[in-house]
Amino acid sequence: MYYLPTRIIYGADAVAKGSHFIPALGKKALIVTGMSSARLSGAQDDIIVELDKHHIPYAIFPHVEENPTLETVLSGAAACRRSDCDFIIGIGGGSPIDAAKAISLTVANYLNVDQITSPAYFRSKLPLIAIPTTAGTGTEATPYSVLTDARHQRKAGFGSDLAFPDLSLVDARYTLSTPISVTLNTGIDALSHLLEGIYSNKRNPLLYPQIFCGIKLIIDHLPALLNEPHDLIKREALLRASLYGGIAIAHTSTSLQHSIGYPLTSHYGVPHGLANGIVMQSMMELYYPAVRSELDELFRYLQMSKAEFYDWLSALNLRVDFSLDEEFIESRLPEVLSSRNMANNPLEISPDAIRAIYRQFI
Ligand code: NAP
Ligand code: ZN
Repeated sequence: MYYLPTRIIYGADAVAKGSHFIPALGKKALIVTGMSSARLSGAQDDIIVELDKHHIPYAIFPHVEENPTLETVLSGAAACRRSDCDFIIGIGGGSPIDAAKAISLTVANYLNVDQITSPAYFRSKLPLIAIPTTAGTGTEATPYSVLTDARHQRKAGFGSDLAFPDLSLVDARYTLSTPISVTLNTGIDALSHLLEGIYSNKRNPLLYPQIFCGIKLIIDHLPALLNEPHDLIKREALLRASLYGGIAIAHTSTSLQHSIGYPLTSHYGVPHGLANGIVMQSMMELYYPAVRSELDELFRYLQMSKAEFYDWLSALNLRVDFSLDEEFIESRLPEVLSSRNMANNPLEISPDAIRAIYRQFI
């Protein structure tokens, strides 16, 4: 199956080019952003020009933090009702866009804090526009929203076809202002998604051309981009790879590769992509016996060996400054084992396999 209900306008001036689709989505927009990325990237100014052109009023909710909480979603939903907005524009990295998805569903379905992540309560949505400013999550093309339940200090989230954006306006210029560390971490997140498109037991050869191309774009351009962050051609390569990664996981979901990183983000503040990156080699080794032919095909396409890929990865010098202990590992094991992503692994994963990966960080 290949299913993608989002209209994606991709490339230079995507916001202006997609502008004529906006009036059909609603009469007043709630623009959902992080603290500064929407303004710094230029995306907020550009969309406001288009809203003004169509005489569409708007309110701004600029309060989404990294790894947004359920409480932030409720505040955004309250702001949406207060301002009488009937469609949402999420601008930012994964955090603001995922919050925008959840606000759309919370308002449309009158959800309370315990219902925000339960698709069983979703009947409708407010129309949603996504404008990414990072090249990482691919959330502009996924049905997922990843949130944080601060009450239990854990990642929470949902997947629902209603969470696919109606319109995604994707322009690499908006990623030019992304700081180097965010560029690296989000690039590795995109790489994770692409690899998980191959690992997943829902893997689908229809996706492989985009997945293989996306991985090559990252390998060829990410290290150089870190030295030349203003190079638009490299930024475009990373953004396209990230979009391919989003399209991949929209079909295959993520796997243990993601579940194992979530506790590192919730407890130690490790950025999402970095949490994936530090376990990437171990995960590939764990999965390799189950997806050997697919990975061998990938490495033939890349014209590199698995060992050379590991060398490329270690040259990125992904570093973390926390150390785990056995108590933490045992306390988080049930969360990892019960996560939804575990259903997508290509082979049976034992608790000991997860312990072994975490023990690298003791
Ligand atoms: P993010 O949390 O949205 O942003 C990270 C930082 O980068 C923030 O400080 C942000 O600033 C800044 N930033 C973003 N774009 C910028 C720009 N163009 N210029 C300057 N600063 C910029 O990072 P992310 O990695 O894109 O998103 C991570 C979240 O997405 C996590 O919660 C993760 O679990 C989730 N995720 C979702 C999916 C999905 O399919 N829905 C998939 C993977 C991951 P501001 O605070 O000002 O915005
Ligand atoms: Zn991710």
